[in-house]
Amino acid sequence: MKARERSARYFEKASRVLVGGVNSPVRAFKAVGGTPVVVKRGLGPYFWDLDGNRYIDYVQSWGPLILGHAAPGVVKAIERSAKLGSSFGACHEGELALALKIREAIPSIEKIRFVSSGTEATLSALRLARGVTGRSLILKFEGCYHGHGDSLLVKAGSGAATLGIPDSKGVTPAQARETLTLPYNDIPALRRLFRARGGSLAAVIVEPVAGNMGMVLPVPGFLEELRRLSYASGTLLIFDEVMTGFRVGAGGAQGRFGIKPDLTCLGKVIGGGLPVGAFGGKARYMDHLAPLGPVYQAGTLSGNPLAMASGLAMLKVCAKLGFYQNLEHRLARLCQGWRDIFAVHGIPAQVSQAGSMFGIYFSGSPVRNFDEAKACDLAFFKRFFNAMLQQGVYLAPSAFEAGFISAAHSDKIIDETLKATERALKSL
Ligand code: PLP
Repeated sequence: MKARERSARYFEKASRVLVGGVNSPVRAFKAVGGTPVVVKRGLGPYFWDLDGNRYIDYVQSWGPLILGHAAPGVVKAIERSAKLGSSFGACHEGELALALKIREAIPSIEKIRFVSSGTEATLSALRLARGVTGRSLILKFEGCYHGHGDSLLVKAGSGAATLGIPDSKGVTPAQARETLTLPYNDIPALRRLFRARGGSLAAVIVEPVAGNMGMVLPVPGFLEELRRLSYASGTLLIFDEVMTGFRVGAGGAQGRFGIKPDLTCLGKVIGGGLPVGAFGGKARYMDHLAPLGPVYQAGTLSGNPLAMASGLAMLKVCAKLGFYQNLEHRLARLCQGWRDIFAVHGIPAQVSQAGSMFGIYFSGSPVRNFDEAKACDLAFFKRFFNAMLQQGVYLAPSAFEAGFISAAHSDKIIDETLKATERALKSL
């Protein structure tokens, strides 16, 4: 592995113009130290930095690239679409094609609206829920991240947690007061809150598998109780499946756990690596949106033809028989390999998996919520991350993020990763 000299020179120059040298905070490597990797190009499971180092990439652009970098079918679809015009600001056939493909996989989505990011999806879904119910309060869970909309930056995970600012400055006290929070997976606390304030809650928003505090699975009964309580109090249940949608299985987390939310937010995979988000759900709620109803929502680039084409090309491959089973099977081998290696080295660790997503916690006990995630050995995570990077394996540069594999992560790549892990741990 060559020293990242070119990356360092680039980052120094970029930092004079781009805030912190980046356009999204976790990329700055603040939690893990050292020079951020500056990417030159990607192909399949790999990317290369400016110095020519090759890495096996377990971030995959934070989830969207379920076929790996520069997947040929996706690239071709984007090229074909670009030749026909990059944006129209008017109706086109690609919007309907992608909408139908999504609805086929996620039947709770009767109607859908495309936006340009996951953040836009969640903040639009919340506005809709408030518009539909006439209520103001929302409930979210500590350590869940739903993008950077004001009312959602309360006890937020992901980069906000990484940088120690889960409650961002700039969010007004009035907005923060309208966001109630509870620990993830705490069913008794959920019941108490709904008993006291259920009638004032417009929406409860949840990551059905929490992928922004590492990766935490819902305990049995948590999502079921959320569905039951929200239904009983006339509160809209919003599943934020920006990360889990088309990731943990063909029907997202709701398909996996058999629970139908009122609204679903999507992003990442549905854009095939281009900027897309979407929110959808029951028609009787979605029809409150303009132009049919009084809740306003719009976007110059919403339903962008390149993004629709790219997403559709990706979802077509994902719909092939056995696609998700293969991914899950391969990742299970990697996770078990990691567990075995950590055990041999006497390192207390928890490796969690949902479909093609994983989390690694350096802790002797299972992690079920944000407090337990924060109590893990973060200093060791930092050393492990850097040792893996040195061996050519790129993990998320924060302990509060999930990892992802793609269809391009073959058995050979899994074996290479496990060997690299052995070498990394020996080097520590
Ligand atoms: N919701 C979840 C669950 C996410 O993981 C993210 C981003 O990681 C978002 C929303 C925000 O999406 P975006 O970064 O596209 O705005």
